[in-house]
Amino acid sequence: MAAQLIDGKGTAATIHEEIKAEVEQLKADHNIVPGLATVLVGENPASQFYVRSKQKRCVEVGIQSFGHNLPESASQEEVDGLVAELNDNPEVHGILVQLPLPKHLNEEQVLAAVGLDKDVDGFHPVNIGRLAMKGREPMFAPCTPSGCIELLGRYNIEIEGKEAVVLGRSNIVGLPVAMLLLKRNATITICHSRTQDLPATCRRADILIAAVGRPQMVKADWVKPGAAVIDVGINRVDDPSAKRGYRLVGDVDFEAVSEVAGYLTPVPGGVGPMTIAMLLRNTLTSAKRAAGLVD
Ligand code: NAP
Repeated sequence: MAAQLIDGKGTAATIHEEIKAEVEQLKADHNIVPGLATVLVGENPASQFYVRSKQKRCVEVGIQSFGHNLPESASQEEVDGLVAELNDNPEVHGILVQLPLPKHLNEEQVLAAVGLDKDVDGFHPVNIGRLAMKGREPMFAPCTPSGCIELLGRYNIEIEGKEAVVLGRSNIVGLPVAMLLLKRNATITICHSRTQDLPATCRRADILIAAVGRPQMVKADWVKPGAAVIDVGINRVDDPSAKRGYRLVGDVDFEAVSEVAGYLTPVPGGVGPMTIAMLLRNTLTSAKRAAGLVD
């Protein structure tokens, strides 16, 4: 393997330790304990798993976790009412509404109801708008995209002036990660399902971020030799030899691309663990902001 492996799991563990130390300091110096509220509507097993993981990590680093589970049948008024209540609760510094919400709920309305100062997921349209604007900063940037940028930073991979190609334009990953790279002065190309000649476009990239949700789509000949490749994809593929009958793979053909890329994230153990680390950091920042310690 030629590429240097970017260890997201290890990096996230380091960040958790950093956060834990800061949380202890905040408590000792200012008697403030950061708090994160999770809002889960319905019983989607994947969502339940994600929420449990976030709550567990909160406890590990000393952040208070307030779990709110509503039934699948919850009305728009109930969800909006809960968000309003959490907006007013001074012990809650961050509100995370687990997506996707059941179909009958208006996701856009719920996300817009989260107080800007508690939008630790960074999905409020005003925060996304600020992220897109030159000279403005969001109060919080979305967690998975921030995790990608953090990995590049911790591995000293230069962004400024580099050619970055983002594969995928979703609101939660592709678009915000492209905007974060632009803020750091990369030259950006965003690819999607209508892009012509994906391999040639991706081959231009010094930094290639894959967030398409297509197992192992990015092949070795899509990658410029020496490029940094960040694989956001998490896809299940059948594997009768695995205990669960499936295994997780990314959007990148890991084995083949590792022979060409300069840096590469694995799946699992790459971007995935960074998402929660960034959520915890946003919650800590929010608590410090509420106490007037940071802007
Ligand atoms: P999404 O909402 O389905 O968006 C996928 C994007 O990829 C869309 O922009 C789509 O283009 C584009 N696309 C799909 N097929 C394509 C193709 N054949 N050629 C070119 N472009 C194509 O997915 P997402 O929510 O961004 O998630 C992407 C992946 O990241 C998934 O595997 C997901 O599980 C994973 N993920 C991981 C984390 C983490 O913590 N690591 C967090 C979130 C998501 P159009 O816009 O034209 O449809």
